[in-house]
Amino acid sequence: MRSGSLEVFYLADNVYVVGHKSPDTDSVASAISYANLKNQLGLPEIFVPAAAGEINNETRFVLEHFNVPVPEVLTDAKGKKIILVDHNEVAQAVDNINEAELMEVVDHHKIGDIQTGSPIFFHNEPVGCAASIISAMYDQNKVVISKEIAGVMMSAILSDTVLFKSPTCTEKDKVEVAKLAKICGEDPQEYGIAMLSAKSDISSKTARDIVKGDYKHFDFAGTKAGVGQIEVMDLAALVDRREAILADMEEVRKEEGLDFVLIMLTDVMKEASDLLFVGSPAEKFEQAFEGKIENQSIYKEGVLSRKKQVVPPLEAAFK
Ligand code: MG
Ligand code: MG
Ligand code: MG
Repeated sequence: MRSGSLEVFYLADNVYVVGHKSPDTDSVASAISYANLKNQLGLPEIFVPAAAGEINNETRFVLEHFNVPVPEVLTDAKGKKIILVDHNEVAQAVDNINEAELMEVVDHHKIGDIQTGSPIFFHNEPVGCAASIISAMYDQNKVVISKEIAGVMMSAILSDTVLFKSPTCTEKDKVEVAKLAKICGEDPQEYGIAMLSAKSDISSKTARDIVKGDYKHFDFAGTKAGVGQIEVMDLAALVDRREAILADMEEVRKEEGLDFVLIMLTDVMKEASDLLFVGSPAEKFEQAFEGKIENQSIYKEGVLSRKKQVVPPLEAAFK
């Protein structure tokens, strides 16, 4: 039985809902929408959405468009109650995640190395976006979705699935977008193009911003790597930045003590990626992507997804 409401108020714990470092729109939108859902379930805790770093241009566009406040930045999980969304790997999580009290995980990636001392809710589905899972959870819990929350969740799904073009996109993602579009009153294609254009605006970005904007660490059987991605409407926008990006990738590689850094320059319209590579072993990179390195890269038609088309072939090559 629950104790008196005053007591509950004073004892109420903050639970931080947070996505991965170098937050993308899904990590931020899922934190906002899952905290919002949990806060409506009559639980004693207060659920606080957080971002594990500064939000990117695309996410800023989304939050401004739907008039949703930017969540607070959380960089250290030590001693805090935490729910992870959109990731479940220690290397991608806020610092000291192993010294936090992990309450739940809601994710759509491969199962990583997060460990807990006691049983928790761990909800993972092979869908295109964590926000698709959360959007369905609103219905399962019979909680009404507001226009604002519908807008941010729809944005996350359109972003993660690259307007449904990514091979990670599933029927569930499309069903949830159709539902959310009705609530937020935006046409998914039209709105999606405007959102991706905000992401593609790299004029004000430094080479470091481009390399680290959407960047994750991976461990391929002991080989340490950083794998990033920038999505643009037209790769031509990146041509004269290429040398500077490569130089910065090498700097990042040294700073972080990695074996290699791979950055996907993804052309959303042509549905292809130029895979830039610095470090070693180059032969594993060539093996993974079945090509020869030219000008420090391999160009791959049809490759849009780091999760489905870049990480698995690397894992296979290093096996
Ligand atoms: Mg993400
Ligand atoms: Mg995601
Ligand atoms: Mg992404």
